[in-house]
Amino acid sequence: MKGVVFPGGRKLEFMDFPDPTPGPGEVVLEIKASGMCGSDLKFYRAEGGAASLGLGKVSGPLIAGHEPCGVVVSVGPGVSEKQARVGMRVMQHHYRGCGVCEHCASGWMQLCVEGVAEVYGITGHGAHARYMKCPARTLVPLPDELSFETGAAISCGTGTAWGALHRLDLQGDHTIAIFGQGPVGLSATQLAAAMGARVIALEIVAERLARAKQFGADVLINPRKTDNVVQAIKDATHGRGAHCSLDASGSPQARAQAVRCVRTWGKACFVGEGDSVTLDVSPDILRRQVTIIGSWTFSTVGQAQCARYIADRGIAVDKLFTHRWRLDQAKEAYQLYDAQTSGKGVIFPS
Ligand SMILES: [Zn+2]
Ligand SMILES: [Zn+2]
Repeated sequence: MKGVVFPGGRKLEFMDFPDPTPGPGEVVLEIKASGMCGSDLKFYRAEGGAASLGLGKVSGPLIAGHEPCGVVVSVGPGVSEKQARVGMRVMQHHYRGCGVCEHCASGWMQLCVEGVAEVYGITGHGAHARYMKCPARTLVPLPDELSFETGAAISCGTGTAWGALHRLDLQGDHTIAIFGQGPVGLSATQLAAAMGARVIALEIVAERLARAKQFGADVLINPRKTDNVVQAIKDATHGRGAHCSLDASGSPQARAQAVRCVRTWGKACFVGEGDSVTLDVSPDILRRQVTIIGSWTFSTVGQAQCARYIADRGIAVDKLFTHRWRLDQAKEAYQLYDAQTSGKGVIFPS
């Protein structure tokens, strides 16, 4: 089979890989939708590829794509009927850990005490290929009501937004400021609005900001066109500031604003990867009792809950995708995505 590989420096190669066969405890999926996540751009752009980003050792060329969704097509020895059956529609929680430590046992394989063994699509073969092999315990059933592309989105970007809103303990009577309206930020806008919260969406790209309105944002702020972003958020909240905020941009400036824009006792959550932030501790944090939260994706349990919520509420997650691609169009897909002006892309490998 052909697999998409990021050698680094904005290059993309199609390479040949043997069709995988499942070992003990493993399954093979036929990938029906493989999402393009914001963090894929970091792996795509980095000189030296994924190896340079501190998620573990990379040996040899690896198939990209860490939003896998598809159908089980073969099952290895030792996999029970309950875990996986041929024909089962599934998402995949894209991490492998030891499987037995306290974090793995609670579905947080990325937090494994031995260190995450594989991040699929980054340090292990991912879903930008027709087939993907993984442990049966990394599968999360895809509700019948949801499309494969919605399942792909939940497998990283949308699931990450869900996880962050839960870490923030968002309530329906809260106002939340969401910095960055790329795939994760826009998902957060959509989910927070569905949860009844009032959303202030911030984004420097006009067309992304306009989409936030369609996804339920109540107030739109373009930080490039606003003198004082924190003041603008206060003006939209009777001078108090937002109850909570989420940075999905990864920008140092946005992160500082995300902390400064919350009211006393407010919470700010960071999900955007990389880079740094500079804060003035006394006025920004401690004298206002502010809580700063880091949130890294979600557990298998959280992924299943996110999917159930989206299915039960009929949330149109598919609308996140502005571009749908065949596997052989991956080069074009990533070139466009790299400009960061479009919405989310998804690749259909089979
Ligand atoms: Zn573990
Ligand atoms: Zn991701």
